[in-house]
Amino acid sequence: MASVAQTSPDPADARAGDLGHWIGGPVAAAGRLQDVFNPATGRVARRVAMADAQVVSRAVALAAAALPAWADTPPIRRARVLNRFLALLNEHRDGLARLITEEHGKVFSDAQGEIMRGIEVVEFACGIPQLLKGDFTEQVATGIDNWTVRQPLGVVAGITPFNFPCMVPCWMFPLALAAGNTFVLKPSERDPSASLFMADLLRRAGLPDGVFNVVQGDKEAVEALLGHPQVKAISFVGSTPVAWHLYRRGAELGKRVQALGGAKNHLVVMPDADIDQAVDGLIGAAYGSAGERCMAISVAVLVGEAADHIVSKLAGRVRALKIGDGMEAGVEMGPVVTRAALERIHHYVDTGVREGAKLVVDGRGLEVPGHEGGFFLGGTLFDQVRPDMTLYKEEIFGPVLCCVRVADLGQAIALVNAHPFANGVACYTRDGGVARELARHIEVGMVGINVPIPVPMAWHGFGGWKSSLFGALHAYGEEGVRFYTRQKSVMQRWPRGSSGAEFHLPAAK
Ligand code: NAD
Repeated sequence: MASVAQTSPDPADARAGDLGHWIGGPVAAAGRLQDVFNPATGRVARRVAMADAQVVSRAVALAAAALPAWADTPPIRRARVLNRFLALLNEHRDGLARLITEEHGKVFSDAQGEIMRGIEVVEFACGIPQLLKGDFTEQVATGIDNWTVRQPLGVVAGITPFNFPCMVPCWMFPLALAAGNTFVLKPSERDPSASLFMADLLRRAGLPDGVFNVVQGDKEAVEALLGHPQVKAISFVGSTPVAWHLYRRGAELGKRVQALGGAKNHLVVMPDADIDQAVDGLIGAAYGSAGERCMAISVAVLVGEAADHIVSKLAGRVRALKIGDGMEAGVEMGPVVTRAALERIHHYVDTGVREGAKLVVDGRGLEVPGHEGGFFLGGTLFDQVRPDMTLYKEEIFGPVLCCVRVADLGQAIALVNAHPFANGVACYTRDGGVARELARHIEVGMVGINVPIPVPMAWHGFGGWKSSLFGALHAYGEEGVRFYTRQKSVMQRWPRGSSGAEFHLPAAK
């Protein structure tokens, strides 16, 4: 296995010219190609190949061929490869972050932050020898021992969204590989470069060819992966309609599926909260990454009399947001990912006005000097939003914050619990009893108390409830280990001589 070079250049071949796949190594782009944009300029940065069923079959066949040797590699040696990958990811963090900003639009420091959150999962996966330790019970019955082991599933696939091109794949493949599976990643076609960058780092870390593969593409590649009999499990992160489709179809085909969907995250501001802290929390969580985060706050639930004061503070801060090219110093919010996303968000704002919500700050029509073709939208703030409005019911996935007013904590909890999305929720309060009540009774997968974006650490696992996650297990953490392994239970005895046939179901004696 190769060792890490002292100083190694960024994997330039991952981003030069048209982007292809990674199937045992780089595969040149051919066939159907799609444009990849730099959202800050609106210009095409490069093109990416779109895999068909044949390309997917090649990747799965290679992953299947690589499986026996990789699954047989002792966990400590698999962990050493991941340790070298970890070192390379740290070394090349800024090169990767630049690439993410160029294709996604988020500000450079945010791209660095997403890589750090991915790195944490790699760090967790490096502990796989401990995580795979089974259970053992001596003498479950006279002369009989029973133990459990967790073994890999086989070839597994990950399908990931545009908004975290490094972090979300890192929720999946480090643990899947550490557990002894081989992997096929189908990243988002909007920002495909990060996947090839990481594939190259894995190769440099000494991962054998075929253990990690990338097929670029869209629905066609996803359907081919889903329908492939050798793909044993699918991890999906993206919008709810696609998550639901994959979950149902995967179950029908006998595959293990975890499918994380969309979100509409609320931040409840109690009357006793520190208002400045709450406003800081709302501004960062609603407008960071232009609202294109599954844990973005898109609804502020303002409890009681402080609402007017909070809305007026928010309005001032939204108007003052520094918006521009994410590579420029001091910029707080970049563009949204595509022109189609910009048009979708404009449509939501138009609908909100038509349905009677109060538009306090209108971000439509923003132009950034020198970036006139970029997909920019200013921060947008609505007040007096009601639960029956489209703005409230649907995921907008842009820099739009909706304020809903309620009278008390009970109404706030009832409002949140009635929403079909249930990814994250936050509450700002100085009252421990209120915090406890909310955390206990809220029907949402991740809860932040005075923490606006409660993304759990790598060893705790990530996942929403209801329409935000289909499947029994959360991503990463110990649930991730369980997802990528299956349990085997072994009972053994070494009897001396024959004790005769037993016709009743054996019980402990
Ligand atoms: P998306 O659903 O459009 O795409 C996700 C992936 O599915 C991509 O790889 C895409 O190529 C593929 N895909 C798209 N349409 C498909 C179809 N009809 N059939 C099969 N595959 C298809 O999502 P997106 O726009 O890339 O990402 C934003 C969405 O992801 C938001 O809804 C956001 O909330 C969600 N998200 C959720 C989480 C979470 O943890 N719950 C995390 C990140 C993003």
